[in-house]
Amino acid sequence: RGAAFARPPEAADLALPAPALDAPGTGEGQTLVYAAREEPFAFVPHTAPGEADALVAAARDAFETGPWRSMPVTERAATLRRVSALVRDHADELARLQTLETSIVISQSRGMHVARTAENFTFFADLLAGHSGESYEQSGRYLSIVTREPVGVAVLIAPWNAPLVLASMKLAAALSLGNSVILKPSEYAPLAVLRLAELVREAGVPDGVVQVACGTGPGIGNALVSHPGVDVVGFIGGTETGKRIMASAAGSLKKVGLELGGKSANIILASADLERAVDGSLMGIFAGNGEQCLAGSRILVEESVADEFTARFTARTKALKVGDPFDPASEIGPMAFAAHFEKLLAFGETAHSDPAYTVLAGGKRVEGMEKGYFFAPTVVEACDNSTTLCQTELFGPFVTIQRVQGLDEALAIANESEFGLASYIWSDDLPSVMRARRVLRAGTVWVNTPMARDLRSPFGGYKQSGIGRDGLPGSIELFTEEKTTLIPQ
Ligand code: NAD
Repeated sequence: RGAAFARPPEAADLALPAPALDAPGTGEGQTLVYAAREEPFAFVPHTAPGEADALVAAARDAFETGPWRSMPVTERAATLRRVSALVRDHADELARLQTLETSIVISQSRGMHVARTAENFTFFADLLAGHSGESYEQSGRYLSIVTREPVGVAVLIAPWNAPLVLASMKLAAALSLGNSVILKPSEYAPLAVLRLAELVREAGVPDGVVQVACGTGPGIGNALVSHPGVDVVGFIGGTETGKRIMASAAGSLKKVGLELGGKSANIILASADLERAVDGSLMGIFAGNGEQCLAGSRILVEESVADEFTARFTARTKALKVGDPFDPASEIGPMAFAAHFEKLLAFGETAHSDPAYTVLAGGKRVEGMEKGYFFAPTVVEACDNSTTLCQTELFGPFVTIQRVQGLDEALAIANESEFGLASYIWSDDLPSVMRARRVLRAGTVWVNTPMARDLRSPFGGYKQSGIGRDGLPGSIELFTEEKTTLIPQ
């Protein structure tokens, strides 16, 4: 089901792929709004919950009778490499679609997100080539052979904040291992994923192996997650949604992988290279407009360098260029959609009105930008880790700074959170870094660097940040079943 574009902003400039310029549809669906100008530009029809049966039946049929799962792995790997090549060939188009619907600035959509999307497909193609099974001799009497098989029909649910990277990571993993996939992008950002799915088919993935369902969580999302014909759900999104998904999936005991929210601590010790810590902390919170699960949104800085760090960090924050996401010079775009912008304004209001906080920058709409969901990059000093702004995932360009006496206090505060997705530490003192690495209750610890990822290593959350891991070996575990065959000898 194609999206109907109503008034794409300066379509010629954006070089969109010849969109149908229909008027917004009248059925169930979502009107997408270009956040920089608050202008509707596309209408995406929604898949009705009642269509879940047909989607699942088609996916099951492709899985049971189609060629995908039984294809020689070299052929499947070659198909995934073709997807990767097509993603690179269509890099501008994909980046522009994603920027249009999410307002991630074009330099990041093009430079980081599309590149990573292409890499996700080559990574899993390479994995296939090196994949091997295990076997065990039992006292010379039996041979146990352990093989992995695809799980079957996988429903993959993606959030709006980084649709290409996140959807492709799950999609490439599930496909490489032979599953059939029903992809449900966010209702706020379905366009780049719809185009990606077209490229996947163009690369030669057979009919029925990849289908896309557009719509809301309570609608088609829940219909798919609770469907008894679905074998596994790979979910990326908020923690509260994750809990609902787990409950819905429990009805037929599906496998579930949950990549959820975060409130990651970013520890800066006196032993850090301060300039590097300032640079990395800016990227840690403001990349992707701050709308990132792994954002380093709680800065914990050692008292002896707190004044200097805070002054430099705040000055650099105020100098960030907020603007139209299609302007190559923009470093931060508007918030993705109106309700999210309103939520951030309310948090900004809390910061300004509650004496528990001191606002050092932002906390409101960018001055002079009356149109568009432009939230000013925000730095708030906080003295109590139990307060709302230190505990809630704000999911925007909004960071708190807390002063700590030393490493022990930093680690205690870092772990005082319901989340445990990631953490950052800046220090040139190896024993401090190693102690932090041991004590931090988080799935990733970044040391003197922000956000680098290597798909050979796991990514995921402790505590309420998730269950399971993306990357290796978590992706293989989620999208395969293990089978043991015993043979007497
Ligand atoms: P969300 O939970 O509101 O929605 C995510 C997806 O789930 C959407 O496609 C939505 O339509 C769908 N959904 C909602 N309710 C559903 C239901 N009952 N059944 C089935 N599907 C349902 O999250 P969001 O606002 O789109 O994304 C932001 C959140 O995602 C943040 O909390 C962020 O931290 C998290 N996130 C996590 C990771 C990670 O890797 N851990 C990565 C990116 C984003």
